Amino acid sequence: MAVPAWSATRVRTFRECPRKYYYRYHLVPLARKPNPPPEALLADRVKDLVGLEAWAGEVVHTVIEAVLGRWRSGREISEEEVLALATRMLSRQFRDSQEYWIESPEAFPRRPVLLDVHYYGKAPVSRDRAALIKETVVVSLCSFLDSELAWRIRNGGTSRWLPIDRNASARLEDGLLLLVKPDFAFRDGDLLHIVDWKTGTPDPFWETVQVTGYALYAHQKWAQPLDRIAPQIIHLFPEFHRSLVDYSEESIRDVLQFIRDSQAELESMADPDELPAAERFEFTSEMQRCRWCQFRGVCDGAARCV
Ligand code: SF4
Repeated sequence: MAVPAWSATRVRTFRECPRKYYYRYHLVPLARKPNPPPEALLADRVKDLVGLEAWAGEVVHTVIEAVLGRWRSGREISEEEVLALATRMLSRQFRDSQEYWIESPEAFPRRPVLLDVHYYGKAPVSRDRAALIKETVVVSLCSFLDSELAWRIRNGGTSRWLPIDRNASARLEDGLLLLVKPDFAFRDGDLLHIVDWKTGTPDPFWETVQVTGYALYAHQKWAQPLDRIAPQIIHLFPEFHRSLVDYSEESIRDVLQFIRDSQAELESMADPDELPAAERFEFTSEMQRCRWCQFRGVCDGAARCV
């Protein structure tokens, strides 16, 4: 299988655990082909399981999108309504994730969000953990609503908002396609801001890679000079914080080199005609990753954690 396009998620998965990359990007796609091998079906079953913290981040993103949708149509939405929407979403998604595994397939024409704890969990989520998840969502949404950035987005007028493509990408000079997933873009004066909200722990290296990808996308999509683009990573939890990410001619050069090198590495692991051998993809040496990996039920590497 050829490596189709470059994305930070794909490369990050490989760097964190090559075997996980094998499951996600080599084995799982076989589940949708005729006569899939049983291990592909097993991997497909767990591929989308999400941890509670990542789920909190997804809920925050969805609710911010709903808020922006309201503002786009010129309607108000109060903080109380926003938090009520988030609370309803948390309850419904948690319940659907639990029921998905016991209901008949017809009850869920589309796969709901599937929480890792409902597939692998042996004990209910503790009160403290549930409270922390809710707090992450509530604090993040309040950080967004109270921020000067949200004020500028709203008061700058929706005519300055720029629609992000569903499959946003940039084409590099050598033809390589770079997939990106920014959350929002808008013009402010002669600057184009392209933004990603985050609720997890900051990671300077990957944030530098991400902002470069966003800038390249904005440069191609809206013909904006690179030095007039302000790509930003905004952390919303535990408080509003704009990451101080390197974005300069030099960092763009470095990131482009990293993209080419990592793409070459992934391509060297692929077999154009058949499924490569799993053994070529090592288990991670950071064994604590296995505790939360969605593939731990199908992967022998997880046994090292017992
Ligand atoms: S269980 Fe561990 S070794 Fe196996 S795929 Fe997951 S992180 Fe990698």
